[in-house]
Amino acid sequence: MADEIRTVGVVGAGQMGAGIAHVCALAGYNVILYDIAEDRLKAALATVEGNLARQVSSGKIDDEERKRSLSRITATRGLEKLAAADLVVESATEDETVKRKIYAELCPILDPETLLATNTSSISITRLASATDRPERFMGIHFMNPVPVMELVELVRGIATEDSTFSKAKVFVASLGKTIAVAEDFPAFMVNRILMPMINEAIYTLYEGVGTVDAIDTAMRLGAHHPMGPLQLADFVGLDTCLSIMQMLYEGLADSKYRPCPLLVKYVEAGWLGRKTGRGFYDYRGDTPVPTR
Ligand code: NAD
Repeated sequence: MADEIRTVGVVGAGQMGAGIAHVCALAGYNVILYDIAEDRLKAALATVEGNLARQVSSGKIDDEERKRSLSRITATRGLEKLAAADLVVESATEDETVKRKIYAELCPILDPETLLATNTSSISITRLASATDRPERFMGIHFMNPVPVMELVELVRGIATEDSTFSKAKVFVASLGKTIAVAEDFPAFMVNRILMPMINEAIYTLYEGVGTVDAIDTAMRLGAHHPMGPLQLADFVGLDTCLSIMQMLYEGLADSKYRPCPLLVKYVEAGWLGRKTGRGFYDYRGDTPVPTR
């Protein structure tokens, strides 16, 4: 990685990749946003545009900053464009095979000094690092959803991550105006290790008929002062992502208390993945979300 980061590559233009591109561009970095799917790139740019416009309306940034930020983002389906990056943040689908394939194609293109980070929610950083040519310059930079709004970033070192990589990542994350929490490389790190079993338990509560979707979400919103109910939050995160994190906890920690709820598996099998597919624990196809149970 260059001593100074000027250009950030983002791999995967999904809900997280779009947000990462947004905060990096706003902080003054040039951003190369890469995805294999043209429609995802278009959707990501539209999301960034919409969210920047909202920040102007709420007085957080001015119109000049909005225009400059947008002009700093280049969306591309050409992987070779990432050669210009000083840091690449991989934020593709939460699937180890997909990520390994990306690293195999990406690493030969990057400068040997370029830092490579992953935004994975649950996969071992050490294991992902071993699939790259640069375990010393590889680590986890785990953003929270929605990236422009959430203040926290978890930093996770793999076993081989060099101190200089870690220091540069700290400076980079601080330059985005985010607060850092350092986590050791164990399944799902800290936030999801605590959050996902709670969401999974909410799904068990539904599965066992203790409460309806509405009752469970109301209970946690008003009874525990959570800003969103756990089922609403699960739909927001994406039920496929929730399931893969629970599977990672279950297998990685070999403890039955992390067993994914069969109802979560069923929703994912149905392709009801939450907001992003229009249906999950709520149906989002009408004007207001309607519980599906
Ligand atoms: P998403 O499904 O919205 O986006 C994934 C994107 O990756 C898609 O646009 C897809 O086209 C792209 N992709 C798939 N294969 C690719 C390839 N070979 N090359 C380039 N792009 C490819 O998912 P997301 O919610 O944005 O999650 C992305 C990553 O961020 C995951 O690792 C996830 O665990 C992590 N994460 C998610 C959340 C969350 O709340 N959703 C929070 C923190 C971290």
